[in-house]
Amino acid sequence: MDAKEIIQGLMSTDRDNVVRASWKIIHSNDPHVLQVVSDQFPAISEFVKTLSPNSEPALRDYRFAPELAVEKLKCFNQADVCRCSLYPASNSLDPEEEEDLGFIEITKEEDHLEAYTFEYPCICTHCENRYEVVLHESCHYPLWYWEKLPV
Ligand SMILES: [Zn+2]
Repeated sequence: MDAKEIIQGLMSTDRDNVVRASWKIIHSNDPHVLQVVSDQFPAISEFVKTLSPNSEPALRDYRFAPELAVEKLKCFNQADVCRCSLYPASNSLDPEEEEDLGFIEITKEEDHLEAYTFEYPCICTHCENRYEVVLHESCHYPLWYWEKLPV
């Protein structure tokens, strides 16, 4: 997906396309792509506000993805705000995936099987902020709770 396809997908009426394009933005580490998408920020941000919720009661409101993509673009536009500031505001970012993408490094992993939780202490590879992530898997979908640790 190039930047143009991402913009088209995000601003389409097809929810699957909206969600797919949103994740491309959230996971992108390509400043060129992010810049081209960012140039359309006002239009994207307005469009996302008009998205209607799921028509049937679903497990999760799909709009969390485009809303997070908008937050990511805001971070990209502010040189002094690291992408990792998105973590505590969201519970849909998987630390293992974030590590694979090079955004963070997991420093160790603790497994508490009896409570269905995993804990991931990690460090942002860009600004070295530290976070502790707790995974709750007892729901129908995983939720990751990110807490920023004191410096
Ligand atoms: Zn950071």
